[in-house]
Amino acid sequence: MKAEILAVGTELLMGQIVNTNAQYLSSRLPQVDVGVYYHSVVGDNPERLKESLELALGRCDVVITTGGLGPTQDDLTKETISQVCGRKLVLHTESLEAMKGFFGKLGREMTQNNAKQAYMPENSIILKNNNGTAPGCIIEQGEKIIIMLPGPPSEMKPMFEDFVYPYFEKRSSYTIESRYLRVFGIGESALETKILDLIDRQTNPTIATYAKEGEVTIRVSARTAKGQDPQVLLQPVVEEIGRRIGNCLYSQENLTLDQVAARLLLENNITLAAAESCTGGLISQMLTDIPGISAVFMGGAVTYSNDAKEEYLGVRHETLLKYGAVSRQTAGEMAEGVRSRLKTDMGVSVTGIAGPGGGTAEKPVGLVYIGLSSEKGTFTKELRLFGNRSRIRTVTALNVFDMIRR
Ligand code: ATP
Ligand code: MG
Repeated sequence: MKAEILAVGTELLMGQIVNTNAQYLSSRLPQVDVGVYYHSVVGDNPERLKESLELALGRCDVVITTGGLGPTQDDLTKETISQVCGRKLVLHTESLEAMKGFFGKLGREMTQNNAKQAYMPENSIILKNNNGTAPGCIIEQGEKIIIMLPGPPSEMKPMFEDFVYPYFEKRSSYTIESRYLRVFGIGESALETKILDLIDRQTNPTIATYAKEGEVTIRVSARTAKGQDPQVLLQPVVEEIGRRIGNCLYSQENLTLDQVAARLLLENNITLAAAESCTGGLISQMLTDIPGISAVFMGGAVTYSNDAKEEYLGVRHETLLKYGAVSRQTAGEMAEGVRSRLKTDMGVSVTGIAGPGGGTAEKPVGLVYIGLSSEKGTFTKELRLFGNRSRIRTVTALNVFDMIRR
């Protein structure tokens, strides 16, 4: 079945909020064999909503709207759709009672415009809202299916999971299952060249790549009849991709690089300390986002100035004078310094120029050195990154996690 997601709300068009509902629904619907063909957004305006709905019904079997089910004047989705479908709005007593209960629990009076939310298109399947007041509904209109869901994600998601997903699951005889392979250390086009023939040849599973901040994710999706194990189709393709890209493939389970690095440290009980200059604590922050990391991550230092590098890490004055703060030598001494001061098995370090200012011909913006010190010795790596300050910092942190996991 072909589906369109039609998000309703002027605030979406104005750029005040991001259409995360469409993203969420798009990620879930393929699993019940509903293909999302279009996303559209329309403001709180009955004429344009009617126009969008008619367009969507003309090109898709399923139209799912989100938003505009609330009690206020600008919430017009239900009224407009009912009109297009030629259905009256009738009082759904169960919803009215539920709403009264909802307000009772909050100790608030239910207003008349709230009661409006209990009027639903006749002969529709009512979707109970366990997290708010406005119910949703499914209208089966000839061959077409129209589904209305509330706007707030905290209401939309549970309603979708509780009613809409099972509704399609029951009807479909196929499911779509995806594996996400995460790759670091090889660009998207280089990666694509390595697996292009696979991408071209495959129809089931299908393979797609997308890049984000130095990383590439490969999605492998298989469509299988219900009751069959999708891994039978997925696993050989995943393995073939793995053979071609080797160690750059760091997770077959959609984990992030910091999670993979953290898991390795935890599993092997390797303690870590971090000395950061241009990342300003980003590495420590990413690590401390991971629950349980205190077993191995001991701490670190943000040493931005030369003095701080000397004072807190014991980087030698001569090193800074001779090679500068942004150098292999400084990165090495930072990693050794933080490791010896915190008595850890491993020390990592970062020093670089994140920009936009501060670059020279010799040491341009994006030049970063990272270091890793352990009982095996001290290793450093030069990175030449592009992009804005935020990207350079993020990609630097990822490179450090990549160094740890290797
Ligand atoms: P309510 O009963 O809260 O009025 P509603 O169904 O009428 O619900 P809207 O009024 O359209 O929904 O939107 C309410 C809020 O839900 C928005 O202010 C916004 O925060 C969030 N929201 C609406 N649509 C989306 C969307 N497509 N993606 C993410 N959030 C959304
Ligand atoms: Mg509203």
